[in-house]
Amino acid sequence: MNPSRNLFNLDQAAMRDYFIGMSEKHFRAEQVMKWVYHQGVTDFDDMTDLSKRLRDYLTDNTRFQIPPIASEKVSADGARKWLVQVDNDNCVETVYIPEAGRGTLCISSQVGCALNCAFCSTGKQGYNRNLSVAEIIGQVWQANKRLGYFEQRSRIISNVVLMGMGEPLLNFDNVIKAVELMTDDLGFGLSNKRVTLSTAGVAPGIIKLSKCSKISLAVSLHAANDELRNKLAPINRTYPIHELLAACRVYSEANGGDPVTFEYVMLNGINDSEKDAKELVKILKGFPAKVNLIPFNPFPNAGFSRSPMHTINKFRDILLQSGIITITRKTRGDDIDAACGQLVGRVAPRAHRLQKQDAASHGSKVI
Ligand code: SAH
Repeated sequence: MNPSRNLFNLDQAAMRDYFIGMSEKHFRAEQVMKWVYHQGVTDFDDMTDLSKRLRDYLTDNTRFQIPPIASEKVSADGARKWLVQVDNDNCVETVYIPEAGRGTLCISSQVGCALNCAFCSTGKQGYNRNLSVAEIIGQVWQANKRLGYFEQRSRIISNVVLMGMGEPLLNFDNVIKAVELMTDDLGFGLSNKRVTLSTAGVAPGIIKLSKCSKISLAVSLHAANDELRNKLAPINRTYPIHELLAACRVYSEANGGDPVTFEYVMLNGINDSEKDAKELVKILKGFPAKVNLIPFNPFPNAGFSRSPMHTINKFRDILLQSGIITITRKTRGDDIDAACGQLVGRVAPRAHRLQKQDAASHGSKVI
């Protein structure tokens, strides 16, 4: 589909081109973006500083189409999880986590995930497709709308993390354009440092990102040696730890020495021993690193359990004593399955989807 059929797919540069392409002034892009991203107005008829002729043209030829919210769950701790319907067969999940002094939105970048990390429920569902720019930025717009940002104009979502369903670096172009819209003053105006991309370890993607973006980087490390990491995160067989850390160093250097956050899920008896902690210290020595320990969040048939708190604390202390900034991530929203690794949305199995398409193109029907 032509992306300009849905203007949520266009970042500022593309939006300018769109208006210039129809012999309009380039500042129409600015006017329209302010309506959409600052006022929450997506109906062209309400954009009163555009001529009637232009409003009619836009109404007839394009739209701002946002994927609808299929359901909302609110956790006892205030976290909210939305199921966002991206097409007839598929939904992704978006989570809002309010904390003292900030509000973090966790968004998805793909329907399902191809990387199949052993402890992640999204990976168990397989991969279906990349989300479009509109479907990624749409999650931020919808959450802002639900939380009342457009009426209050005070920032409710202060941070966005690409830590929902999917591997963002495997949907590079769409993710980058959506990030542009998050950080653009005509978009949601977040600072680069308040947008964090988390990757399972796509090393070439990290290098590519270092050339075009200044957002914060988080890397899901989970193990300090290749033997264990190969089992937990199979992508390690393609990009082993030394290659991954080299890419992280490039990223940090491109960003003035900013630290990279390493995520480490605490799996009981698997990667949580003193020896594991010391090995982690060794590989991160001299690296501008922060470590986030994530207590494992269980899901049915996971085959792993969460390390006990005293084990997590001991692990953290070993890192702290060696001078590595380490925090244990609080588990939020687990009563509504909104915690890290629990996001599953609704992913139509790909084989089934292709079969349906095939059947449709042969004029038959599959229920
Ligand atoms: N694909 C990206 C982003 C999505 S996962 C990545 O891998 O980084 C976001 C974070 O949640 C990652 O650090 C991931 O390893 C972690 N995670 C996945 N499943 C988890 C689980 N069951 N419990 C705790 N953390 C989990």
